[in-house]
Amino acid sequence: MPNFKTLDDLGEITGKVALVRVDLNLPMLGGSATDVTRVEAAKPTVLELCERGAKVLLLAHFGRPKGQRHSTMSTSFVQGDVEEVFGKEIMFIPEVTGPVVEQSIGILGNGDIGLLDNVRFWPGEEANDPEFAKGIAAYGDFYINDAFSAAHRAHATTEGLAHILPAYAGRAMERELAALDAALGNPEQPVAAVVGGAKVSSKLAVLENLVGKVQHLIIGGGMANTFLAARGVDVGKSLCEHDLTATANAIMDKADHAGCTVHLPYDVTVAKEFAANPSSVRTCNVHEVADDEMILDVGPQAVEALGDVLKTCRTLVWNGPMGAFEMEPFDSATVALARIAAALTQDGSLISVAGGGDTVAALNHAGVADDFTYISTAGGAFLEWMEGKELPGVAALRV
Ligand code: ADP
Ligand code: MG
Repeated sequence: MPNFKTLDDLGEITGKVALVRVDLNLPMLGGSATDVTRVEAAKPTVLELCERGAKVLLLAHFGRPKGQRHSTMSTSFVQGDVEEVFGKEIMFIPEVTGPVVEQSIGILGNGDIGLLDNVRFWPGEEANDPEFAKGIAAYGDFYINDAFSAAHRAHATTEGLAHILPAYAGRAMERELAALDAALGNPEQPVAAVVGGAKVSSKLAVLENLVGKVQHLIIGGGMANTFLAARGVDVGKSLCEHDLTATANAIMDKADHAGCTVHLPYDVTVAKEFAANPSSVRTCNVHEVADDEMILDVGPQAVEALGDVLKTCRTLVWNGPMGAFEMEPFDSATVALARIAAALTQDGSLISVAGGGDTVAALNHAGVADDFTYISTAGGAFLEWMEGKELPGVAALRV
């Protein structure tokens, strides 16, 4: 577990100004947020600081304004959603430095919250300009990072501030780091990894890292087709990166040497077109895929065997759906395996950690999101962590 300070290490903070980096980059539709999970994640940290009498200044980015003010990307657009989730009024402050910030701090009472404008309106944010960071730091007594999902970026408010002010991990950051550490940093063995999704090329670094760390590598989704093809299976019209045959073989060799068993499906669900419940859908052995068919899901026998593998494991880390889960019946393998993992977790025999945009959607679709040990909603940061990279925003918190 990386060594970092948390809110427990803060002493008396009444009347002090807390600069808190949160993730308020909410998906929007017609002026309001369609999903406030990120605000809910930040709530425990922010409310704890308020209860302890600090003045809380929220730092966040919103969209990609590329270093300029952009009328449609002000954080004021999410103010209402944040107030609703926090159950508290907050003051919008249309700057991040300068007299407006200073006056606002004067107006804020102890336990009040101010929301600064989009940090990406200033080029110094993404450039991680130390002068820009110092400008912001001048208004705060300490810095808290509660935005794991932005920790793969070395920006002024995700990384730079941690070098200038006393820095602490927020509660959501703390939970995320503990869960990730339990999954791959220092896991209970044996460990299984499920890697699925569309393409091998987008997850090469993930696969390379995992083969050296886990005992079982379960490959599903479109990427399984590339591995099957590398083993000489004719995958018909399936999504398949034939140019990555050598890479797939190298990964399987590396796994062999590391004592990692690679599991590929031996039965699959195929169809002639990608549509919901097409008349051409059937399940067959991987060696029986016709030239005009596509593999769209892992088959039921393979899922049963994979369930037996999970029963022998203590830890599971999962990224990527097993099939084209957006369309029935190609959600079957993902849903079935997710339910097995959820049941094992609830029985106390498995620690299960999952992440990735489509993976979270698939696990919600399977109705098991609350039954996994931890589900990370951090897309890019979660993948970089699965690649074994040290995230700059996390590294900067180390003591
Ligand atoms: P995540 O967002 O969780 O990292 P990915 O984006 O890598 O996951 O992969 C999700 C996509 O992979 C989904 O859109 C899904 O339809 C697609 N997919 C999974 N299996 C197949 C398959 N056999 N053929 C084509 N696409 C697939
Ligand atoms: Mg995706």
